[in-house]
Amino acid sequence: MQILDGKSCSEQIRQEIADQVSQLKSKGRRPPHLAAILVGDDGASETYVANKVKDCQQVGFESSLIRFDKSVSEAELLAKIEELNANEAVDGFIVQLPLPDHIDEHKVTVSIDPRKDVDGFCPENVGNLCLGLPTFVSATPNGIMELLARYNIETEGKHCVVLGRSNIVGTPMAILMSRNTNPGNSTVTLAHSRTKNLKALCAEADILVAAIGKPEFVSADMVKQGAVVIDVGITRLADDSRASGFRLVGDVQFDSVAEKAAWITPVPGGVGPMTRASLLQNTLKAYLRN
Ligand code: NAP
Repeated sequence: MQILDGKSCSEQIRQEIADQVSQLKSKGRRPPHLAAILVGDDGASETYVANKVKDCQQVGFESSLIRFDKSVSEAELLAKIEELNANEAVDGFIVQLPLPDHIDEHKVTVSIDPRKDVDGFCPENVGNLCLGLPTFVSATPNGIMELLARYNIETEGKHCVVLGRSNIVGTPMAILMSRNTNPGNSTVTLAHSRTKNLKALCAEADILVAAIGKPEFVSADMVKQGAVVIDVGITRLADDSRASGFRLVGDVQFDSVAEKAAWITPVPGGVGPMTRASLLQNTLKAYLRN
């Protein structure tokens, strides 16, 4: 078994971006600017957004964090999005999900200017992805494709099973893997909670992408000898032995599955850091397009 090391791969990407930013600055250009909107005080969202701001600082981007109380009205949030859409000094922005129940996430997503939608969630960008046109690909599937590319994992003609059909991970992942590209050109099965014979199906996969959010759901008997296993899941499980009070667990039973897999991503240190690096790549792309 070999590790698909998202941590070191993402560090390499960050270094490449930092080099490009310092070249831009040396030519007197302003740096790329990513803004993030955070509503409420959910612990995981706070951590994700803080990491995004830290990542921007590390590569030399400008960043803005716009915070709203969880009682913010939908109208007020939409007004801020309009303001960011019009602000020429902001290249891209994200609205950290989930949002409080009284705010319609779809309304928020569709109100973001597609040219600044570096999360790749808005209908125009998702449509472009389906058509194979230039777009912002959602950060997690984009990061996984980059990881496969940088490790030269052969995907052509392989059977790829994607577990989970969410709009931000499973579905775009399945589209990307089925595309006539490298990586890509796989024969893809998109599985979900209504899929029958899931164990047997997963055991046929040359490439298995688990994105369901069920800790350690994928056991060794669901994995083919020599498969490539990508674990997207991140669940916080209470753990009193840790200073943080929790530990992160993936969707895959790492130790036993690693014995059968040819390649596997760890949690943490696999898909997570690649997702973060992807957002930076998308922001740089938005900046260069402008
Ligand atoms: P989501 O929106 O909750 O979607 C979960 C998907 O898994 C759904 O399609 C669901 O099927 C399917 N599913 C649930 N239980 C299943 C089961 N027992 N068998 C088969 N399919 C099942 O989740 P998400 O946003 O895609 O995230 C998935 C996981 O990835 C979470 O742990 C999340 O924290 C993690 N994540 C990690 C990163 C990263 O950077 N590493 C980024 C994003 C998400 P139905 O559609 O039928 O309900």
